Amino acid sequence: LQRLRARLAGQNNALSRGLLSLLSADKLDEDTWDDFEATLISSDLGVGPTTELVDTLRTRFKVEGVDSPEKAREILREELLKLVDPTLDRSLNIRSEGDDPAVCLVVGVNGTGKTTTVGKLARVLVAEDAKVLLGAADTFRAAAAEQLQTWGERVGVDTVRGAEGSDPASVAFNAVDAGVEQGVDCVIVDTAGRLHTKTGLMDELGKVKRVIEKKAPVTEVLLVIDATTGQNGLIQARIFREVVDVTGIVLTKLDGSAKGGIIVQVQRELGVPVKLVGLGEGADDLAPFDVEGFVDALLE
Ligand code: GDP
Repeated sequence: LQRLRARLAGQNNALSRGLLSLLSADKLDEDTWDDFEATLISSDLGVGPTTELVDTLRTRFKVEGVDSPEKAREILREELLKLVDPTLDRSLNIRSEGDDPAVCLVVGVNGTGKTTTVGKLARVLVAEDAKVLLGAADTFRAAAAEQLQTWGERVGVDTVRGAEGSDPASVAFNAVDAGVEQGVDCVIVDTAGRLHTKTGLMDELGKVKRVIEKKAPVTEVLLVIDATTGQNGLIQARIFREVVDVTGIVLTKLDGSAKGGIIVQVQRELGVPVKLVGLGEGADDLAPFDVEGFVDALLE
């Protein structure tokens, strides 16, 4: 959270900068509001949420007679919280409750940070004393399974792999099967993220999920989105959302040139909570998404 704060606060972040400019304005005239609106849109917050936020703020500032930066900050904080929706359930369902392991499917376009996220997530679970197994169901890229296994070794968990080009569903099945045999708490399955055709993707992910569920329930489907890709990431995310029941979003690379507002947009567009954020390439650079911390960091 400290690091997320450091990233979001200050000059680097367009959303934060826009919000603070409103708070430090001498007078709130039309120009100030216009500038504010333009900055929010450029921060990847999206036109819809921006317009809504600006309209609400303008009305509240007027009705409640805002006369100090403190009061303005209070209203801004309240409205931002509403925008990110603190009521959504952001807990991860990746710990088994009965005999079967919990299965977490990690999906998303290649390059977004799927494999890295699987590694980081395994690390979190291992630190909580959970037994974890990884499944390398991205069988199309030779390097993918290799990379996953390297992550596994790094965090001390085994990886089930298949031959290159083998059926992703059969590798996923084998991984979950081994997980059941070994009595692990969680099997995390890394999948291929080729956006060749929507039907191809649908068939593939659908099959992976169906086949796994012959063995154990898929308790979490995490969609990994690269926060630096803005609208493109959003378009890709919509496609995944349509082909598989996504239960949570992982927004990676928030340490990079991401503009912060994408968190709000992604979540609203997909109707799925952002559960985790990626803040770097290291094993410990994954954090639960904390709404209040996020909003406070923006207003710091
Ligand atoms: P995949 O193709 O979706 O499995 O993506 P990878 O896990 O291979 O990640 C692609 C690149 O993004 C790698 O160089 C990762 O180190 C990097 N990456 C992943 N997550 C993050 C993150 O949160 N922050 C930064 N800065 N880089 C990340």
